[in-house]
Amino acid sequence: MTENLKAPAGPSLIFHCGTGSTMTPAVRDFLDAMMAELNDGLPEGRSALDLAVGCVERLEGSGLFNAGKGAIPQSDGVVRRDAGAMEGGSLEALGLSQVRGIPSMARLVAALIGQSAHVHLSGAMVERWAIRHGWTLESGPEEGDPTLFWEGSRGQAGEGTVGCVVRDLRGDLAAVTSTGGIGRMWPGRIGDSPIVGGGFYADNDRGAISMTGVGEAILKAGGGGALLALLSTADGQDPNRILTGFLERILKRFSGEAGCIGIDREGRPFAAHTSSRMVHGLIRPGLCHASDTGEGFF
Ligand code: ASP
Repeated sequence: MTENLKAPAGPSLIFHCGTGSTMTPAVRDFLDAMMAELNDGLPEGRSALDLAVGCVERLEGSGLFNAGKGAIPQSDGVVRRDAGAMEGGSLEALGLSQVRGIPSMARLVAALIGQSAHVHLSGAMVERWAIRHGWTLESGPEEGDPTLFWEGSRGQAGEGTVGCVVRDLRGDLAAVTSTGGIGRMWPGRIGDSPIVGGGFYADNDRGAISMTGVGEAILKAGGGGALLALLSTADGQDPNRILTGFLERILKRFSGEAGCIGIDREGRPFAAHTSSRMVHGLIRPGLCHASDTGEGFF
């Protein structure tokens, strides 16, 4: 990271692989190949949403993270995935929660966004919409007896939610987040990831963000939309201090580790986390950078 806060010219794509994720050799190999592919497509004039969905779909498909193919089950053994996306120009937004059988939630959000005026849809009706529109649902375990896990389960930090934020050639922004949730979660639990303003947000006037970490703590702190509001009304304050201060507050006041990636309204990409590690990467034409440490504006 540098102290030079000048916005880069041209498109930028930044992604994360969740609080707690580490740069193992398998992750490094996967990301090197993914970043090279995405870098080739960056100057082609595709929309920010299209580019962000393409990145998250690749991360979901890797099986290396707690999203898509790698999503963890809830306490009854059933995998229910959450995801959300928003476009900063049109302000179209959609979160999907508790959906079974669809590993590429980013692709499903992309198919459904703008189809209704709603900003959140959940569960069985989303699955029915998908089947009706030609999707094949993967089968998984049936729901178990809920009384077995309603005692004692409190939830614990997850690891490996994925997200991507893009500023395209035209300067439009988009954000996408996808997750399997956290550890030891009650069936039906929904975190920040599929909540607009919580785990994802994009508005060309404010910036775009994808959050990760303990969803309950992130939501209590006001979510990623609140951080963008602080950054866009900074009035000369150091944006790095606003960024780290917001995440520190989530840790200290709400007892949850958190991380984020984003692009502010000036077009400056950033990444930050209070977890010891968070794999994240930045792609610009001719540049691919990925790491699991470091924070601030690039
Ligand atoms: N924020 C996600 C959730 O609470 C989990 C994570 O990012 O690790 O569902």
